Formats: sequence, C-alpha cells, structure tokens
Amino acid sequence: MSAPLVQHNPAGVAIPLVLDSPHSGEWYPDDFHHAPPRALVRQAEDTHVARLWRAAPTQGATLIEARFPRAYIDPNRSLADIDPELLADQWSEPLSPSRKTQQGIGLVWRVARGGVPMYSRKLASSEVESRIERYWQPYHTALASILDARHEAFGGVWHLNCHSMPAVGDALSDDPGRERADFVLGDRDGTTCESEFTQHVAAAVRAMGYSVALNDPYKGVEIVRKHGRPTENRHSLQIELKRTLYMDERTLEPNAGYAQLERDLAGLLAILADYLRSRLTSSRASTRAPS
Ligand SMILES: [Zn+2]
Repeated sequence: MSAPLVQHNPAGVAIPLVLDSPHSGEWYPDDFHHAPPRALVRQAEDTHVARLWRAAPTQGATLIEARFPRAYIDPNRSLADIDPELLADQWSEPLSPSRKTQQGIGLVWRVARGGVPMYSRKLASSEVESRIERYWQPYHTALASILDARHEAFGGVWHLNCHSMPAVGDALSDDPGRERADFVLGDRDGTTCESEFTQHVAAAVRAMGYSVALNDPYKGVEIVRKHGRPTENRHSLQIELKRTLYMDERTLEPNAGYAQLERDLAGLLAILADYLRSRLTSSRASTRAPS
C-alpha cells in the first residue's frame, strides 16, 4: 500500500495558512476494480491541482495532498454519505445519503463521468470500511492535526480547500450546460469563512484578470463544513479552478495556460501570506496597546 497522503511542510517560518488538495491523487489502489477504462475514471480527478499550488511551502504555508483517487473514496464526503445500493450487505451505522449520493458521487462513487456505472458488482461493506480506515481517516487526521497546531500557535487559522472543475457543467451537475467562472470560491454561503478573507481572495484573483463566482455552482462540501468555524477564528474556503485554464479536459495534459496559472497561484499565495502576517502583527500590537 502507498502512503495515503503527502504533507508539504513550510520551507521557512510557518504562517497560519493551510492548503489541502483532496482530489488530485493519481495512485490507483490494486483493489479498486472499476468497470470503465482508467481514462474515464480519471475524469473524476482534480488532476494537477496539488502541483499547481506547490509554491505554498515557500510562503510558509502547509499543503496536504491526497495520493489516492477520489473516485475510490472521497475525502470531501461524510462517512454517512453512502449509497446502500452500492453494497452487497448491510452497513453497520445509520446512513444519511446526500444529494451527492443521489448524483452517484457520494463517499464511494457509483458512476464515472457521464453516468457510466463504476462497478460491475456490489461492494462488501468490509471493502468500504477498509478504504475509510486506510485512506479517508488518515487524510482527515492529518488535516485536522495541522489546522489545530496552527490555530494553537497563532490563535487563528486560514485554510484553502483546493479543487478543479470542468469548464461546463455536465448532465449530472447542478448547472448542466453552463460555462463556469475561472475561479469559484465556496464558503457555504458565508458560514465556513469570514467574508473579509473570502473578499480578499476574490479581489486578488480578479486583479489578475480572472472571473470569480461565489458559491455558484459550488458552495463547498464536507471538508470546509467540518473545519470552517469562523466564530473560533478557523476559516475554510473552497477554491475551484476551471480546468481549461490549465489542461486539456479529455487527455488531462497541461495546456499552454498551465505555467501562467501556476505563477498566478504563487502570486496569490504571496499576497495571502503578506495579508495574514499583517493581520497577526496588528492583532499582537492591539493586544499590547494600553487600554
Ligand atoms: Zn475536487
């Protein structure tokens, strides 16, 4: 078995900025046994996303990268988001399938892109339990632990949950046939991240010439829901990049825009690092100031 994740630690002085890329894993476990060709299953990946954000450690941020494919087990779904129809036997806990499971893309994906069935068989509950234990749980443990450590050290933590999206919604999406913005930021309608940070990210991205949408069509799912608690100064923002900015959606090969996007994301990280450092300095100054 391969390690479920890679943690890229800060190259210099750490700042309270953490990134995670839950869907860019390209290492396919031997016991996946999916029915469609690998090329079709790979359409589920956020291919290249962790590589695109690789400047994070040089800015003092931490980047957590899943190595397993999200179609095998999806870290951005809750453990109750399982389709009982996938299983050959009874699940041991109560299930609460979400709209994602109805769409075939819950904790364990029932379909590949285009609605093609992912399996030609039912899965044993023990197979799904093993995927949770070996991949989903270690990923969540690593992410929670670095977020807690930064929050403890700095009194606050800012988290970017990094994804990519097809340029146009397909038949199974909430926005079929619609062209998407270059960047979609998701804070679950303002509940997982303070609006000051969200607006700062949006303004920086717009200033680079990209179009930005907020919570449309993606609001953020399980990871930002679980970790974003603005009242505790824990902020989680989902960032979706339009895939055609950086790759051919069919072959997954980087396109002519890849290098520019990578530079722009490095620039964005530098802007956010400056912003967070200045906020920490001013909050320390105000703590020390005489009342
Ligand atoms: Zn994703």
